[in-house]
Amino acid sequence: MDQKVIIIGAGASALMLAALLPPKHAILIDTNPKAGEKICISGGGKCNITNANMDTSYYLGEERFIGEVLSRFTQQDLLQWLIRHGLHPVLRKESQYFCPRSSSELLDILLKESRKQKILLNEQVLDVRKRGEMFYVKTNRRTLNAPKVVVASGGLSFPRLGASGIGYEIAEHFGHTIRKTAPALVGFTVQKEQFFFKSLSGVSTEVVITVGEEVCRGSLLFAHKGISGPAVLDASLYWERGKITIDFLPGFEWKRVRQSKKQLSSLFPMPKRVTKAFLLQFGIEDRPGHTISSEILHKLQILSSYTFAPAGTFGYGKAEVTRGGVATNEVDVQTMESGKSRGLYFTGEVLDVTGRLGGYNFQWAFSSAYVCAATIRREKG
Ligand SMILES: Cc1cc2nc3c(=O)[nH]c(=O)nc-3n(C[C@H](O)[C@H](O)[C@H](O)COP(=O)(O)OP(=O)(O)OC[C@H]3O[C@@H](n4cnc5c(N)ncnc54)[C@H](O)[C@@H]3O)c2cc1C
Repeated sequence: MDQKVIIIGAGASALMLAALLPPKHAILIDTNPKAGEKICISGGGKCNITNANMDTSYYLGEERFIGEVLSRFTQQDLLQWLIRHGLHPVLRKESQYFCPRSSSELLDILLKESRKQKILLNEQVLDVRKRGEMFYVKTNRRTLNAPKVVVASGGLSFPRLGASGIGYEIAEHFGHTIRKTAPALVGFTVQKEQFFFKSLSGVSTEVVITVGEEVCRGSLLFAHKGISGPAVLDASLYWERGKITIDFLPGFEWKRVRQSKKQLSSLFPMPKRVTKAFLLQFGIEDRPGHTISSEILHKLQILSSYTFAPAGTFGYGKAEVTRGGVATNEVDVQTMESGKSRGLYFTGEVLDVTGRLGGYNFQWAFSSAYVCAATIRREKG
């Protein structure tokens, strides 16, 4: 095999890169029996591809690096590329672009376009070494060599879909710094004081969550293991340890409570079951609003700023992404090439760039792949 580039991984970023490179230029290697497995299950099976509201504030990582990469292949560029290939993403939830019917619509395009490269499946990369100008990629089956290697092996989340730490191991071997990794876009487990949440499993309600300086709006879903749902997943991106504050009644006018004849359980704009669980927890009787004392009102107002420390997260098994990764100040933003070893590149989630929910992570995977592909094409010709 006479490939010029070895790409580690055949996920979102690797497939876009393969699609953008000249034919017979690269060889992709992936542990999974199928390429792009995560794309299939993403966005509830419809893949949230990108977002109309795109800027660096939706990402965690080095702002200048992220902004420059996104500006080289914007959400508009991605949408136009998809439309040219016959996919017309649909706008949902105000600003999020999804596949019209199924994630396989996006995957099929990526697979068709990357067919011009060789893809080795069921093959695990074990390590990468360099001798002279040549990289040697050792797998569980053989050793391949090429003058360029792209690490597009993603992060640690969803190990059942092939995730591994190989990208970080390769980066470290070549002298890169790895920013501390953690599961992100994931639910929180709770401590004893919040065990009563579990009785609400399956119920969801609109909230605003504050983690440090960050504010995350959307639904919270009570789950068997703790709390989940879009607002919680976004909050997990910023949480390290310590407390979060949940406003269970965003915009609620408290002065109405003691003027109302309604029972407390019907008075608040959230599911009755949730109000009842909190009343029980606070030891407050369910009675008409106008009959409660100012002391009880004060106790209830905790619902607007319910503060507690989650016990932890649901872990990498459930996390949509991995926060942290290869430090971007050691990667050339114009090329995605390693600042430590010529011919070595990084794209996608393996880098220390993590987006919120809403299509930001695929956009990052595709934009960084575009920058890398442009470099490799330029150097070829
Ligand atoms: C359930 C779920 C839903 C999601 N939904 C969305 C969404 O709707 N919108 C969005 O923007 N993002 C979503 N994401 C996040 C998104 O899927 C990732 O951010 C994106 O896939 C990252 O692309 P990547 O190419 O960098 O890594 P990946 O897509 O993870 O690809 C990396 C590939 O490398 C392979 N690999 C790893 N180690 C090795 C090894 N040692 N040898 C060979 N191959 C290896 C893996 O098998 C994998 O195929 C979701 C993630 C999950 C888990």
